[in-house]
Amino acid sequence: MAAMAEVLENQDLVKLIMRACAMDEQTLRGSILQEIRGNKGMRQVNKLFNRIAVGVLNMIMTHFRERMDEFDSVSTALHYALHDPDALANRTKLLEAAHWPLVVYDLSLRGIKPGEVADTYFMLDQFKRRRNPQSCDELADLLERKCACCGKVCSWIAKDREKIPVYRPWLEHRTSFAAYAMHPYLGRRVLFENLDVLQGTLIPFTHQDHFFEVAFVHELETSEFSMRLHVYSQMTGDELRFSRFLIAACDKPWYEESIKRVFRLRDANLFCEERNRRRVVFLAGICMLNPIFSDPTDWSVQSIFGLTGADVMATIRRGSAIQRERRLLA
Ligand SMILES: [Zn+2]
Repeated sequence: MAAMAEVLENQDLVKLIMRACAMDEQTLRGSILQEIRGNKGMRQVNKLFNRIAVGVLNMIMTHFRERMDEFDSVSTALHYALHDPDALANRTKLLEAAHWPLVVYDLSLRGIKPGEVADTYFMLDQFKRRRNPQSCDELADLLERKCACCGKVCSWIAKDREKIPVYRPWLEHRTSFAAYAMHPYLGRRVLFENLDVLQGTLIPFTHQDHFFEVAFVHELETSEFSMRLHVYSQMTGDELRFSRFLIAACDKPWYEESIKRVFRLRDANLFCEERNRRRVVFLAGICMLNPIFSDPTDWSVQSIFGLTGADVMATIRRGSAIQRERRLLA
C-alpha cells in the first residue's frame, strides 16, 4: 500500500513538473531528478510498477524534448529577425522558452541585454551544437552536472572554475564548461561552401581535456589504415597517453581492421581534410574510454578498437615501455 501511495505521489509530481513555469530552477531541477530516481527505483518492484514507471519516464523525456523543440524554434526565428526592432517580442518569448535549457544546461540568457546582439547570436549558435540526452539516465546526469567521462562532477572543471570570477557558460570559458567532440561519422551535417561538413558536438559539464583530435588515415597507394594524433600546442595528459597507445597498438591485428571499419561506416560524401590520389584523411575529436552515453559507440578509443577499459590502459602501459626501450637504445 505504501508503495502504491508513492506511485500516486510520484504522478502528482510529474504533473507539477509539466506545469513547471512557476517553479524556480533549483526546485525544478530537484523535482525532475527526484522523479527520475524514484521511477527507476519503482521499476524493480514488480511488472505493474515497471510499466507505470516506464510510462512516467517516457513522459518526462517527451516533455523535455517538446520544451527543447519549442526553444529551438523560437531561437531560430529570432536568429533570422535579430536586427528587426520587432524582434524584441520574440526575445521575450525566447526568455520564456529558456526555462528548461537553463535548468538542464545552465543556458542563462537573462544576463544579456536586448542590445547585445553579437553575444545573443553567439550563445544561441553554441547552444545549437549541444549534445541532447538520449535517455532519462543521461538527463539525470546533466541535471547533476556530471562529466560524461568522469561519471561525476568533473574535478578539472571545478579547478578551472576556481580561476573564473564570473562564470558565463555558453558565452565564455568554453573549454572549462563543455568539451568539443566530433564523432567520426555521426552528427549534424551542414552545407558550407558546397561542402557536406560534419559538425562537432558540445558535451556540457565535461572538461575539454578529456577529448583530443585524431586523424583517420587511409593510404591509397599501400592500402594501409592508421590513426594519428593532432596536437596544436602543449600535449594534455590524455593526448600523451593516446600517443603511447598508438605505439603499442599499431602492429596489433585489430588496429587496421578497426580503422577500416570506421572508414566503411563514414559517408563517403562527407568532407575530408585530405582526399587525393595518395590518401584520404578525416579528423575526429574522441576520448579515451567510453563516455557515459546510452550510445557510446565509436566516441572513444576503447569503442573504436573494441577493447575493454583495462585493455586500453594495458596498451598505453606497453606503449610507454616500448618508448622507454627505444630511448635507452638510441
Ligand atoms: Zn571529467
